[in-house]
Amino acid sequence: MPGTLYLIATPIGNLEDISLRALRVLREVDLVACEDTRHTRKLLSHFQINRPTVSYHEHNERERAEELVGKLLAGANIALVSDAGTPLISDPGYRIVRESIDRGVAVVPLPGASALITALSASGLAVSDFFFAGFLPARGGARRARLSDLARVRSTLIFYESPHRIKETVKDALDLLGDRESVLARELTKLHEQFMRGRLSDLLSALGEATVRGELVLIVGPPPDGAQAQKAESGPISLLSEVESLMERDKIDQMTALKRAARGRGISKSEAYRQLMSEREQARPEGE
Ligand code: SAM
Repeated sequence: MPGTLYLIATPIGNLEDISLRALRVLREVDLVACEDTRHTRKLLSHFQINRPTVSYHEHNERERAEELVGKLLAGANIALVSDAGTPLISDPGYRIVRESIDRGVAVVPLPGASALITALSASGLAVSDFFFAGFLPARGGARRARLSDLARVRSTLIFYESPHRIKETVKDALDLLGDRESVLARELTKLHEQFMRGRLSDLLSALGEATVRGELVLIVGPPPDGAQAQKAESGPISLLSEVESLMERDKIDQMTALKRAARGRGISKSEAYRQLMSEREQARPEGE
């Protein structure tokens, strides 16, 4: 009989967030595959767990996955953990999961902390429809291209980001997504947990010149029409009503609102203008 691959979520800062089930399974498995064995050994010894560990990280994922699936097929029970949070979520693990499924090995997830869900739940932004974008590309051009693609997504966007890139990312997000509601969640579940809330422009000023430290999740609310669509759970909102609601809400002129709406929809300003005129024409009562 093949063994089982357990995917075990571990705390993202506060050790009390480990589950009783995670502790039991970690005590029972034959082997713990970890992103960083030294890091995980500290966690295991904190809970007086003494199981053998083996490294499984982005640089040895391919060979290790094969080797570990061999052990699973031979009957071993293996736990996969990452340094923090849920394995596979911006962390290694995909290959061993895929391979296990393909070879008929049972894969059992043990739920627990994940920074994206922790941040989203307390963000106060629309949660019924969200898009996790992971880490943005480090290079400016690629990052901007990705953000420009994401401008079309009408859901709340969630990003992981490193402290030394966060200001650039917020600046680019402001530029390409528009000045949306946002939340920067820092050091979740730790002593200095912090939520910075406001529009992207507010975040940018709040980050100022100071050095940013700690682990970060950036959440950007949906474009205004997206938020309305989530609330109303109805069909798409017309460009005309988006522009009007932007003008009303942000006290901006029609051209600025149109530019923002165009950016959010991923269309050019002139295309948006044409669409607006045609929607206005259609909205005009007959005979006028
Ligand atoms: N697998 C993890 C999860 O489920 O959340 C994510 C691993 S990813 C390599 C690490 C990134 O997650 C960090 O750079 C940061 O963006 C985010 N993160 C992890 N722990 C966090 C925390 N305590 N507070 C805020 N963000 C955190």
